[in-house]
Amino acid sequence: MAYRPEPDRDSRPWWERIARKEFAVQECASCGTPRFPPRAFCPVCRTEGCRWREVDPVGTVESWIVSHQPFVPGRLDPYLVVMVRLEAVSGCLVYGNWRSTRPPEHGERVVGAFTEVTGDVTLLDWAPADAGSVHVHPPERKPSH
Ligand SMILES: [Zn+2]
Repeated sequence: MAYRPEPDRDSRPWWERIARKEFAVQECASCGTPRFPPRAFCPVCRTEGCRWREVDPVGTVESWIVSHQPFVPGRLDPYLVVMVRLEAVSGCLVYGNWRSTRPPEHGERVVGAFTEVTGDVTLLDWAPADAGSVHVHPPERKPSH
């Protein structure tokens, strides 16, 4: 059995974007404070309104935890969850599964890696930027004339 996130009213747009392999950060419409995970109110000014800002899923490792709890059925324990400081959005920390055969290092550069768990569930994992196997922007194919 695979892990199935349960999108709610506030996080549904996030999961829908991830499923389309798009990465965007929810920002307060009033003061611009980023919200992760997505939520109904700004933690700073309590404004409800928000907008989505598409950015590259690139950042640096802030910290990580090794989970010994079987939160994810079927997953081998322990597993590693990293907290990533986004390069493009000041003050925005996001987290996700670590995807590498080695442990992360504090401050190392990482890129998001969309991981299709099942046909309708996609997660955003994080991998070392120097891994070479993950491309944030695949090169566009230009028609040859
Ligand atoms: Zn605000």
